Amino acid sequence: MGTKGKMIVGLDVEKLILTLNKAYSDEWLAHYQYWIGSLVVKGPNKEAAIAELIQHANEELLHATSLATRIIQLGGTPITKPEDWYKFSNCGYEAPDDPYVITILDQNIKGEQCAIVTYNRLLEEIKDKDPVTYNIILTILTQEVEHEEDLEALKEDITMMMERS
Ligand code: FE
Ligand code: FE
Ligand code: MG
Repeated sequence: MGTKGKMIVGLDVEKLILTLNKAYSDEWLAHYQYWIGSLVVKGPNKEAAIAELIQHANEELLHATSLATRIIQLGGTPITKPEDWYKFSNCGYEAPDDPYVITILDQNIKGEQCAIVTYNRLLEEIKDKDPVTYNIILTILTQEVEHEEDLEALKEDITMMMERS
C-alpha cells in the first residue's frame, strides 16, 4: 500500500486486516446463503422472495469485494481458501435445508442482525482512527440495515397474506 496511506491508519494494521478478513468471510457465507436460498425457496409469494434473495446475494458479494480491496490496500491478503471462511466468520452460515420461505427469511434475518451488530461494533473501534475503512464499513452497514428491513417487511406481507386467505 502507499506509505502515507498506511501511516495515517491510527490502529494496529495487522489486527485491522484480521478484523476485515473476518468480515470478508461473513460476506462470502452470506452471499452463498442468499444465492442458494434463492434457488431452493418454496412457498407463498416465493417470486417476491426470490427477487429479494438474489438482490441481497449480489450486494453481499459487492461487500466482499469492498473488504478485499481494502485488505489489499492495507498490505494484507484476503482469505484465499473457502474452508477458512468458516473459521474466521463472526456470523456463521445457516444451510437452507428447509426450503419453506418463512424459514429461509428467518435464517437470513438472523444473519443480517448479526452483521448489523458486528459492523456497528467495528465502526466504534475505528471511529476517528481510520476514516477510509470507516467509510467503507458505514456503507456496508447502511445496506445491512436495509436488508434486515426488506426481509422483515417481506415476511410480514407473506404472513398477512396467509392469515387473510
Ligand atoms: Fe453484507
Ligand atoms: Fe446483508
Ligand atoms: Mg433488498
